[in-house]
Amino acid sequence: MSHPVSSQPAFASLSPPVMRASTVVFDTFEDFVQRKQRQPDGFSYGVTGTPTARLLEQRVAALENARHCVIAPSGAAALMTTVMGFVRGGDHLLVSAACYGALKTFAEKWLARMGVEVELYRPDIGAEIAELIKPSTRLICMEAPGTVTMEMQDIPAITAVARQHGVLTMLDNTWASPLGLTCLDMGVDFSIQAATKFMGGHSDVLMGCISMNDHGHYEILRETQSILGQQVSPEDCFLVLRGLETLPLRVRAQSASTLQVARHLADHPVVARMMYPPLEGDPGHALWKRDYKTNGCLFSMILQPAPESAFHGFFDALQHFAIGASWGGVHSLAAYYPAALQANRAFPATDQPVVRLSIGLEDPALLIADLDQALAQYAKAAPQA
Ligand SMILES: *Cc1c(COP(=O)(O)O)cnc(C)c1O
Repeated sequence: MSHPVSSQPAFASLSPPVMRASTVVFDTFEDFVQRKQRQPDGFSYGVTGTPTARLLEQRVAALENARHCVIAPSGAAALMTTVMGFVRGGDHLLVSAACYGALKTFAEKWLARMGVEVELYRPDIGAEIAELIKPSTRLICMEAPGTVTMEMQDIPAITAVARQHGVLTMLDNTWASPLGLTCLDMGVDFSIQAATKFMGGHSDVLMGCISMNDHGHYEILRETQSILGQQVSPEDCFLVLRGLETLPLRVRAQSASTLQVARHLADHPVVARMMYPPLEGDPGHALWKRDYKTNGCLFSMILQPAPESAFHGFFDALQHFAIGASWGGVHSLAAYYPAALQANRAFPATDQPVVRLSIGLEDPALLIADLDQALAQYAKAAPQA
């Protein structure tokens, strides 16, 4: 052959190969004509994936105790791709009010206008979700703990009802990571990870994963992923594959530090309320204890009422927490969610602003001292504290 084709010479490395391709080349005319038969696992064009992408899918599937995985360019893309794969006009879609904001917006602003009947349900619903199910119900979206306000969901109670009625379920399992919860074992059809968070682990890559057991569902999602053009670069796959090498160590360390920091804050006079299921007093504690194996690295809190200037004092005083969205990386982060955002939710958990902290790999004593001095700045502007 006179054209260049990269193949693998005799070479072995502990590092996964980064294999790039838009075009995949074929040995013969017959191979080319039959290329669609290579789906859902094989390679026919870059949009259906590369060996680097497939390796990441296999590793994530193993962690999730799943037979199959499809990756997407972000956690948001994984959520939307799953819904687009299975929901059509005329279907009824149930979405927890505590689900990730972009999923709710997609459901309410796009799907509802494309003829999908979108219904938000209270995250604390259990088997009573049966009362919301109609003949047209296609999919139930769950997330536990819920985005920002951290409500737990009774996952097995909901999946049991869904299975009885032939309704599909998906769970955004990002908070726990597969090390904290293998939710397919609880009857969930699709486990979604924003690999951007714990799996990538270094705040430098966007990635999403959809894991499942059913081969028919896998075929549909592989097609949906490629029809929507949702492929990821092999360099990004490489970064997540590298992140997975240290995932168990990071989860263990961050999970322990997070509980320590949260316990300290729970006793702090400036903290009005913690939103963190691993704490004994949390409304979701019993469900967390029953189902989850780790403490995660993310929690929220409500501070004693104060004017907005108090939050300037708190955030700007932080030395070891960067201010920023996202979470799950090795560096600790602090984020702010204004009161209006909470009050506008379908079932508001609070009408107060929420502070959300992601705990990284720093010394927890250092983080606690940092929070104490920043809370002291907050208290200066807080009359009740
Ligand atoms: C961040 C996040 C997402 C979205 O992931 P991106 O990769 O940032 O698009 C989805 N669900 C949860 C729970 C998240 O925390």
